[in-house]
Amino acid sequence: MSKPELVVFDFDLTLASMNVGYFDAGGSNVVDRCFGGKERVAMLENMLQSVKDRGCTLAVVSQNSKATIKKCMQSLRWTERFFGGLIIGWEDSEEKKSTIVTNLLKELGIAPEDMLFLDDMPSNIRDVRANVAGSGTILVQGKGIMAADVESIKTWCNRQS
Ligand SMILES: [Mg+2]
Repeated sequence: MSKPELVVFDFDLTLASMNVGYFDAGGSNVVDRCFGGKERVAMLENMLQSVKDRGCTLAVVSQNSKATIKKCMQSLRWTERFFGGLIIGWEDSEEKKSTIVTNLLKELGIAPEDMLFLDDMPSNIRDVRANVAGSGTILVQGKGIMAADVESIKTWCNRQS
């Protein structure tokens, strides 16, 4: 049996292609406005599904509001399909991300070296690298996760197996 693994995504400029405000998160064109269009969403869904199929637990850890994230994901049904209850926003914790993911790892019984953490903020990447020894990190640059980041995720998954 493979070891339990955790992949943690930031929301703004990581899953989403922008910094999403509460009023950006509703309406019919969320896919274009908040996620960069249908093609990018399809790429993300393929990636999330294959990571999930491998048995990884998926989580969102964000300094945005959980209510905004859920509202934004509603039309995509990502909460149900991929993240279950593991969407952590500022309502849940205002601790630094390394503290939040350390608690999550303990709760889930997952080792730090079996966690991959993605974020667009260098300060969050530095925090996790410094305080969650052994974990994998990917600094997302530009407007959220793109093809090169998907490749980096695959590389991490292969390295683990
Ligand atoms: Mg961000």
